[in-house]
Amino acid sequence: GVLIILFMHIYEGRRTAAYQQLQRLARTDALTGVANRGSFEQSLIQSIHEADRSHSPLVLVILDIDHFKLVNDRWGHEAGDKALQHICTELGERLRITDTLGRLGGEEFALLLRNTDRISAEPLVESLRMQICNTPLQYGKQTIELAATFGMAEWPADGRSIDELYRCADQRLFSGKGRGRNQVVSQEEA
Ligand code: GH3
Ligand code: MG
Ligand code: MG
Repeated sequence: GVLIILFMHIYEGRRTAAYQQLQRLARTDALTGVANRGSFEQSLIQSIHEADRSHSPLVLVILDIDHFKLVNDRWGHEAGDKALQHICTELGERLRITDTLGRLGGEEFALLLRNTDRISAEPLVESLRMQICNTPLQYGKQTIELAATFGMAEWPADGRSIDELYRCADQRLFSGKGRGRNQVVSQEEA
């Protein structure tokens, strides 16, 4: 009887560990190790509920690497992959534990900054932009320059639903691309 209980105990423990490992994998982008799109969106939904309860704002940032196709074309796809990992490392080092970084797809990432508004968050996002363009990727003997354009949107001022928030951040990102890239856009042009 004792042996059976012991066996069940070990079996249960392993099963739980394997299940947690699977859950972790399902939430993670395989290349960069950051949250994948689905998991990022879950965090965003949950954070909006929390922000609603505590009457505090939050900021969604979308960033897209500039001329990333050229990085791939010039240095190869493997260098491109390394660049994506490199950028996630750089971003991760500067974020608070309460901030979430996710990969929306391709060379597009998102940041969720809780308990802050656009104005207060802008210096951080600006420092992230500078971090990326001041820290090129060392790829063997090559130095690969990187840059990214950022669009910011604040909940609830810029949109109450996730869709509205995404659309707003995305439009600002797009206008930053049009205005020459490598910049942070947090409001519409005057
Ligand atoms: P822009 O400044 O306007 O954003 O230009 P861009 O070249 O970055 O944009 P575009 O959307 O034309 O190109 C994105 C490129 O990103 C094309 C695609 O091959 C590359 N890409 C997407 N996902 C990956 C990936 O996982 N690894 C690598 N190496 N490249 C990727
Ligand atoms: Mg893109
Ligand atoms: Mg791009």
